[in-house]
Amino acid sequence: MINTSDQLNRYVFENTHVRGELVQLHQSYKAMLDNHDYPAHIANIIGELFAATSLLTATLKFEGDIAVQIQGNGPVSYVSINGSHDQQLRGVARWQHAPESSRLSDLFGDKGFMVITITPTQGERYQGIVALEKETIAGCLENYFRQSEQLDTHIWLFADHDKQQAAGIMLQTLPGNSENTVSKEQLADDLDHLAQLTATISADELFTLDAQDALYRLYHQETVKLFEPVQVKFNCGCSKERSLKALTTIEPTELQSILDEQGKIEIKCEYCLTNYVFTEVDVLHLLNAPENKQ
Ligand SMILES: [Zn+2]
Repeated sequence: MINTSDQLNRYVFENTHVRGELVQLHQSYKAMLDNHDYPAHIANIIGELFAATSLLTATLKFEGDIAVQIQGNGPVSYVSINGSHDQQLRGVARWQHAPESSRLSDLFGDKGFMVITITPTQGERYQGIVALEKETIAGCLENYFRQSEQLDTHIWLFADHDKQQAAGIMLQTLPGNSENTVSKEQLADDLDHLAQLTATISADELFTLDAQDALYRLYHQETVKLFEPVQVKFNCGCSKERSLKALTTIEPTELQSILDEQGKIEIKCEYCLTNYVFTEVDVLHLLNAPENKQ
């Protein structure tokens, strides 16, 4: 039996300053991998980063999106997942050859780093750079939260491309304990206790149990307040119009020479692999649009 839901659940532990999130991905993960022929370790790291990005976007307090990218000089040069506050995500990896393991250094070499870009619909963009000091995405993100947000955080990530399942859990101290309504020691004890409970879950349980059962299995002795679950979707967001717009960044003479040679211009979306084909008429129309005239 497999869990076929694509759902994010947020919860808080009553009488503590700790919150949690659980995400389980199936159809959306499958859609992200479809037709890409990623080697196993790359497909798994995409699954982990997908779950992680979903957990991160759920912490947004405003409308906008988060892009989490890992870049490096190993067999994989680039993995990127974008997610919006309403849990629409897409992702892609660029790679040269199959890595030997899922360790970050085996995937991204010795010069890897993670970039987290938060773009509010209104307001300033924020970017954080995270060194790949740990061998897992979860470990690197725990460091990120500790250093940049001063929030103690535990993250567990799981992915199995064979089963087309990915999942993640995050526990985090709530921001805004500035009046010290809970002592630092108490907060650390609570988080530690809840992390020990959470660490007992296995990938198989997360891939088979529905969210209610998984949370009950972990926290049945705690008082947990569960919020409405949110549906997670793979949504690329690309379109013929957007791809056409991208052509405006190319020199008109260059566009013309491609048209002369091939009779058309093709742009393939690297995320969902949709192929957009533009004729000479499309391109002329674009170049003659008032906003694109130089
Ligand atoms: Zn696309």
